[in-house]
Amino acid sequence: MRPRFHPRLINGPFADPGLYIPFLYENRAIIFDLGDTLPLSARELLKISHVFITHTHVDHFIGFDRVLRISLGREKNLHLYGPPGFFKNVEGKLAAYSWNLVKNYPYRLGLQLTEVHRDSLLTREYLCQNEFIPTHKAVRRPFKDVIYEEPAFRISVAILDHSIPCLGLAIREHFHVNINKDRLTALGLETGPWLTGFKQALYDGRDSESEFAVKAAGDQTQRFRLGELAEQIALITPGQKISYIADVGHSTENQEKIISLAKAADHLFIEAAFLEVHKDIAAEKHHLTARQAGTLAAKAGAKQFTIFHFSPRYADQEHLLQEEAREAYELHR
Ligand SMILES: [Zn+2]
Ligand SMILES: [Zn+2]
Repeated sequence: MRPRFHPRLINGPFADPGLYIPFLYENRAIIFDLGDTLPLSARELLKISHVFITHTHVDHFIGFDRVLRISLGREKNLHLYGPPGFFKNVEGKLAAYSWNLVKNYPYRLGLQLTEVHRDSLLTREYLCQNEFIPTHKAVRRPFKDVIYEEPAFRISVAILDHSIPCLGLAIREHFHVNINKDRLTALGLETGPWLTGFKQALYDGRDSESEFAVKAAGDQTQRFRLGELAEQIALITPGQKISYIADVGHSTENQEKIISLAKAADHLFIEAAFLEVHKDIAAEKHHLTARQAGTLAAKAGAKQFTIFHFSPRYADQEHLLQEEAREAYELHR
C-alpha cells in the first residue's frame, strides 16, 4: 500500500520547525508551521494549498515571508489557519512592505485567513490587488474539532496551552483506496491519470450505479458501473492519520487533549525540547521533555513517532533525547 500523505520535517530537530505534507500523485501539499523554510524549494512551496500555524512565536512563523514572496504575482488562493490574534499577526507582516505596484500584476494572489477560536472559526480575505487591505468583515462560523474538510480527508485541532494558545493538529484520510494491479491488467486496463479521477469519485461518494469511463489500451473506451469497477480493482482500507504537536506544556489538560487528538495516529510528530533532568526548565518555558513526549506517543497508541524542536543546549547530545523518548514509549506501550 502506498500512503497518500508523505510527511517530513522540513529540517533537523534543532532548526525552526515545520512539517511538509505532499500528497502522492498530486501537485499539492499542506504544511504545519512555517519555521525555517529554506530547505524547501520554490516548487515545493508553490504546491502548498493550506498552511496551519500552531502559534506565532517567531520560530514557527518566520517562514511566512518566503511563502508570500514566492506566491506573489501568481493566480493562487492560499489558505492560512492560526490561533486567536492571527489576523493581527499576518496584517503586521503585510504592513511591513509597500504594495503600490501590485495592482498591475496580471495574476492575483489571495490570502484566506482563518482564526481558530474555542468554538468558532473567523475567516477573512486579503487580496493582493487591494494591497492586502481586507474589504469585507470577517465571517464567523461555529466549529467543533474539525477546522477543514474535503471529501478525502479532514483536519482536526485541539487548542493547547503554551502560555498562549497553541494548535495541536491532525490530518486524517477518510479511507484509503489501493488499486489491485493484477485485476487491472486482467480487465485490459492500464494505470494512468484516470486512477486519480477514479479514487476521487470514491472519495466524493459518487453514486455506485453511475457510469465510469476508462480509456483502455488501443484508445478504446471501456464503460463500467463505478461500484462494479471498485469491487473489482479497489481495496478500501482505513485512512492514514498524521498528528503534529508543537510547543506545549505538560499540564493534565494538555496531556488529555494530545492523547485524544493523536489517538492511533500512524505517525505522531511531537516536540521534545528538553531532557527529563531539566523538566523544571521545560515547565517554566511551557515545553515537553523527551520522556513526556515518548509517554504521550505511547498513551495515544501512535504507531510511529518522531520528536523534534530540541533546545540548542543539547547540540551534541541528540542521542540522549532520542533514547529517553524511545525508552518512555516502550515502557508505556
Ligand atoms: Zn513557542
Ligand atoms: Zn517553538
